Amino acid sequence: MNQFWSDFVKELKPYVPGEQPKEGEFVKLNSNESPYPPSPKAVAAMDKALAKGLELYPEAEATPVRETVAKYYGLTPDQVFVGNGSDESLAHLFNGLFRHNGKKILFPTITYSFYPVYAKLYSIPYTEVPLADDFSIDITPYLAASPDEVCGIIFANPNAPTSIALSLETIERLLKEQPNILVVVDEAYVDFGTQTAISLIQRYPNLMVIQTLSKSRSLAGIRVGFAFAQAELIQALTRVKNSFNSYPIDRVAQAGAIAAFEDEEYFNKTRHMIMASREYLIKEVRGLGFNVLPSAANFIFMSHPKLDATKIASELRERKLLVRHFKQVPIDQFLRVTIGTQENCENLVKALSEIVSKGI
Ligand code: PMP
Repeated sequence: MNQFWSDFVKELKPYVPGEQPKEGEFVKLNSNESPYPPSPKAVAAMDKALAKGLELYPEAEATPVRETVAKYYGLTPDQVFVGNGSDESLAHLFNGLFRHNGKKILFPTITYSFYPVYAKLYSIPYTEVPLADDFSIDITPYLAASPDEVCGIIFANPNAPTSIALSLETIERLLKEQPNILVVVDEAYVDFGTQTAISLIQRYPNLMVIQTLSKSRSLAGIRVGFAFAQAELIQALTRVKNSFNSYPIDRVAQAGAIAAFEDEEYFNKTRHMIMASREYLIKEVRGLGFNVLPSAANFIFMSHPKLDATKIASELRERKLLVRHFKQVPIDQFLRVTIGTQENCENLVKALSEIVSKGI
């Protein structure tokens, strides 16, 4: 290949997800997946979809999925976009709405690392806004942004990897004071103790909410994620998507998604188990001297005043426990730990207690 293409390809930097080891090799506390299997009703619905009809294309607009989810949230189906994971919904949003409009986007310095990757891939100008000293999102700089220069603001709520949530009142204030800027709230972790902003959609045409089945509904493997907004914005995503592939998600995923939304009991049971284990884990690791940020997510973000995060991560790895370490300043001394089953959490506490007493 000639030098031009060789250099060009090197500059394409994809998003790098957490390590996915061979099954059974490690206890995976590094990718914020659910430790529990999906709802048995969702599994049965997917089995049924597998048994009959795969020779046919899926429902062309995933209408039954959009109807089910719209009803669940008090929206209309034209206010729901379905994609292969929320990453795909985000990609279409970046491509369709943030690209080519001559303005920049804002997001926190510490947030989901997909945003800068996609901004770069699509040549979208962006500014990273520092977090407050307590690692929460300070909305003051966003309130001061000029709509002549800025087209969008995006952040995760709760934020990742910090786990801290913004209140609905704060988000509403931003929407109200910046009516000409599109505010995107990525709610991948909203079901673990934060209020969704979906209730604000009818009143704010400048709001888009992103959600996923990958976390609280234990379906990371089927790749289903959503964007919610007023119909006009959803239209933009649909148009961009249809240029790539007019079928939103496959038949099996459509069946699983509908059944998962219909099984509220299982959803509530598993997310409450995760939240209870989170409170247990926070209490125990604080007892071991860790500083833990207030978490509204299915993970915690913690550091130890005396122990090096790289070393803790590698000690845990030796004990077959995988956690996530970001080398980025100022969070390079933190570890992000996904809440596993209660047993996983107890084993993690045992391992951390050994590591702390050894004092690596
Ligand atoms: N948003 C945030 C904040 C995330 O942490 C993740 C998970 N990596 C996603 C979106 C993407 O989730 P998915 O594509 O599995 O729906």
